[in-house]
Formats: sequence, structure tokens, C-alpha cells
Amino acid sequence: MHYYLELQKLINEEAEKLDISAIPSKAEELHRLFDSARDSIVALLVFARKAGVMLEDQYLPITLNSLLRDGDGKRTINTWWNGRLVSIDVDKLDTANASRLALAEQHGVSEQIFLRYEQRIAGQYGTYVHIPCNHRGCSISKNIGFRNPIEMLEAERRASNELWYCHHHREEAFLQEGALPDDLFPVLERISYSPGLTQKNTGAKRDDIQFLESVGLVTVEKVTHGTRLLCYQITLTDDGQRVLDRSMG
Ligand SMILES: [Zn+2]
Repeated sequence: MHYYLELQKLINEEAEKLDISAIPSKAEELHRLFDSARDSIVALLVFARKAGVMLEDQYLPITLNSLLRDGDGKRTINTWWNGRLVSIDVDKLDTANASRLALAEQHGVSEQIFLRYEQRIAGQYGTYVHIPCNHRGCSISKNIGFRNPIEMLEAERRASNELWYCHHHREEAFLQEGALPDDLFPVLERISYSPGLTQKNTGAKRDDIQFLESVGLVTVEKVTHGTRLLCYQITLTDDGQRVLDRSMG
């Protein structure tokens, strides 16, 4: 497993360096690389047999099989298309690629970003980027939806910067580390700007306001007319103002 991760890291680093746009035919290049991998594995198996060496990996011959051409000289590979993983003939790769490039241009993003968009929507979370709860070992996450590649980039940017705690852990995180989920700062800001806001006007959910009240950052006052509840007026406490001032540095 350790070696596998190292290998993944190496592949990521090399992929970063590779300028794929400089390669005129991706189909040709893929066939060339498949052939060269096939030749290397065959040479390894031949040598191992003669040297009386048992190769550890029993999957090598199976891997080799996937590198070979079929009876018609064809190879089939999987690629992402229209948000799904589909099988295509390697010889159709350049046509598929030209269509993808045209779509990328239409959306105003690079081909690689458009490819990532296709991979994301075909993946586990579909058209959402998820932000995991920052509590170690918690598996709850918040989803940010996107509808096109540009919105995906924005969602990814938010997901990589935003600190978020689920409702099970935000109280503990605040009491122990003074950490507050990033999405609550704009709420505090709005309340600070116009004290006495109603819950709706804070832009927060009722549950968020209850949390802010429970950790002492806001007070919630009932406004009644006779016995009728008119609304809740929400005001920042001194602690709430301090937390907000600190965040604005
Ligand atoms: Zn959590």
C-alpha cells in the first residue's frame, strides 16, 4: 500500500509536467505507450523464466493482456464523456478529444479543467464538491453544488479554503479551540451591522442562530404583542463582537 501511494505521487508529479497539448495524436501516442509497456513486460517475463525467478506479481500476465490489441488490431479504453465513464476504441480518441476541446472553449476553461469537470460529475459526489467536517475522524460533510465548469472552480476554491464543522462538533470546536465555521462570520457581520435583525435577515438557519446563542455570541430576544410572538430580534454580545473583530484582524 505504501509503495502504491508513492507511485501515485510520482504519477501526479509527472502528469503535472506533461504538456499533453504538444502531442498531435493522442490515439497514436497511447498505442505507442501500450506497445512499449507490452514489450517491457514480455522481456521481463522471458528473462524471469530463464533466470528461474518467480515474479511476485501474479497479475502481470493479466496486465499484459489488457495492453494487447484484439483480433482486429483494436484496443478499447475507458474515458469520461458527458459525465459518465464510457468505453471507446483508442482510434476514436482524437475525435472524442476534439469534441471535448470545443466544449471546454465554449465554457471558457482549459481542456484539463473540463476533463476534471467530467470526472467529478461521473464520480461519487456528482455535481457537488464536499467540505468535510474539520473534526478528526468525522465523516459528515457539507456539499457545495455546481452546474458548470466555472462554478466547479469556485466550489473547489471554497472547499479548499473553508473551515467547517458539522452540528455535532461545532460547539466542541468553539469551546476548546475558539474555532468557528467560516460560513457563520458573514452572519455575525450582518448582525453587527444592524443589531436587532430577525433570523431571516441574518441569512442563517434557525439552528445556526441557536448554536451562536448557546456559545454566547448572540442574544435572541422575543418581541411580543400581548401574547402573540411577533419575531426574534438578534443582537451580538460583547464576545460575539470580539470574535468578529478578531476575524477581521
Ligand atoms: Zn463533525
